[in-house]
Amino acid sequence: MDTTDDVLVVGAGPVGLTAACGLAGLGVPVRVVEALDQPTTESRAVGVHARSLEMFAALGVLPRLEARGRRIAALEVVDGRTGRSRTRLDLAGVSTRHPYILDVAQPDTEAVLAERAAELGVVVQRGVTLTALTQDADGVEVTLRSGDRDEPARAGWVVGADGGHSSPRRLLGPPLDGGLHGQHLAQADGDVDTPFAPDAIRMFAHPDGMGMLFPLAGPRARVMFLVGAPDTDAPTLEQIQALADTRMGGRVAVRRPRWLTYFEVHHAQVPRYRHGRVLLAGDAAHIHSPAGAQGMNTGVQDAANLAWKLALVARRRAAPDLLDTYHDERHPVGAAVVRATTTLTDIGTATGPPAAIRDAAQFVLGHIPRAGNAAAGRMAELTVQYRDSPLSVRHGRHHAGAARAGEHAPDPAGLRRRDGTPVAIEELLAGPGFLLLTRSADAGTVDDLRRTLGDLGAVVRVVRDAAPGAGDCVLDPDDVVGRAYGPGPAGLALIRPDGYLGLLADTADPQLLRRYLAGALHVPELSTA
Ligand SMILES: Cc1cc2nc3c(=O)[nH]c(=O)nc-3n(C[C@H](O)[C@H](O)[C@H](O)COP(=O)(O)OP(=O)(O)OC[C@H]3O[C@@H](n4cnc5c(N)ncnc54)[C@H](O)[C@@H]3O)c2cc1C
Repeated sequence: MDTTDDVLVVGAGPVGLTAACGLAGLGVPVRVVEALDQPTTESRAVGVHARSLEMFAALGVLPRLEARGRRIAALEVVDGRTGRSRTRLDLAGVSTRHPYILDVAQPDTEAVLAERAAELGVVVQRGVTLTALTQDADGVEVTLRSGDRDEPARAGWVVGADGGHSSPRRLLGPPLDGGLHGQHLAQADGDVDTPFAPDAIRMFAHPDGMGMLFPLAGPRARVMFLVGAPDTDAPTLEQIQALADTRMGGRVAVRRPRWLTYFEVHHAQVPRYRHGRVLLAGDAAHIHSPAGAQGMNTGVQDAANLAWKLALVARRRAAPDLLDTYHDERHPVGAAVVRATTTLTDIGTATGPPAAIRDAAQFVLGHIPRAGNAAAGRMAELTVQYRDSPLSVRHGRHHAGAARAGEHAPDPAGLRRRDGTPVAIEELLAGPGFLLLTRSADAGTVDDLRRTLGDLGAVVRVVRDAAPGAGDCVLDPDDVVGRAYGPGPAGLALIRPDGYLGLLADTADPQLLRRYLAGALHVPELSTA
């Protein structure tokens, strides 16, 4: 008898689709309902940061996403009156396999994720809106409305990924802590004629208020301007052009608009991400200014953090307590994003003495590579870590310069497959489940680790050179894993499906793995036979 619970994902935005892919990839039956009859054509979130790119690579969708977008190499602040560069922050020095931002319109991101979800067997039901929800000890009762018909349905678990006006959030009752920030943005998405090279996202500083230019694929770009409270829903192309003429010094001409809109900035977060069998993710859990392009990025990483935990629980492999770590790990990240984007918006729109301080800080970031790389790494969400989480466990001493449990798994260059072709950790992570790297040379130990991990993931041996009979392994001639992870010459590193380091140990003792699975992950019984 199949004892796996099914999961209802509400909302086929980037967050709901990422959650659906993660769950389906781990063998959980998923149903996605989406209120809109057709996918949105509104470009919305356009900047995909490095941490999300790493995650999309592990999900197997990065090449498709890259084909629809444009790599951005730098962030630049331009004097809006003269068009002169004030400061430029290059992203090349950021420590990741993807030291760039991928500018891609949100409908393209959603299309790629929907395609991957379909490959994994997920059906997205469009024109279906969740309108009611109650839960008991074993599942969640919902009402799904399509047209004028109400369908009662039941699911084991519900992921509320239905955006800023989330129905599960409203029905469960948690208030959003925060409020309106009182700032409005005018946005347009169209083809653009400009002498500015499409290699950078540019912020135009101007006394009337800032403007932003995000290059997309081909001649397409997004422009955005801080404006006063509007009295219509959308600006006209003429109004957008007038703003561009003033604030971008006549150097940007917008034509063939695809989307014109005003956007009001809110800053808020729910106090809890888990409500029994209902989990909130993405804009349903936190909303904030588009400054720094953090919204969708934070949301898809919520989904990545949640999906593997919910998969373990839905498959009855882990106790539901594991889901509390979703709130514990992601709520502080959301809170920090709300704080940082509020500050960024205030700084970006400051006048007078605060503006002078901002300009000096921008100069430092653009001219001191270490400071610039640190700021770019934070914006790319590469500094997100869960070191204080109960899921982050270190046995043995920390090695200077190496990653700690709870940090994202390093992905150093230098690893090779047995046939000599280069291989990345993110490729190894594309296999479903956990990835356990071990440097143990003992075949019996490796077999025991494999039996202990069972179908929860893969064990990969990392060896300096491939001795005959080494079996399935990855070659690490320069010991990059040893230095980046510091697991000792016979240690292990257990990487979670979302790419973060769970267990680090100086010895590859299978007993440590068993204790970690049972104690930290709440996986009480494994098929170790
Ligand atoms: C006008 C606008 C402009 C934006 N501009 C930017 C930007 O420039 N940069 C940036 O980083 N971010 C921007 N954002 C925010 C960004 O789009 C979000 O952070 C991101 O979309 C969050 O993804 P999500 O999947 O959580 O929610 P959404 O993308 O909102 O997806 C939620 C989905 O759920 C569906 N849904 C809603 N209610 C129900 C229901 N009851 N039943 C079933 N389905 C339901 C909706 O139709 C929607 O498709 C913008 C947002 C808006 C609205």
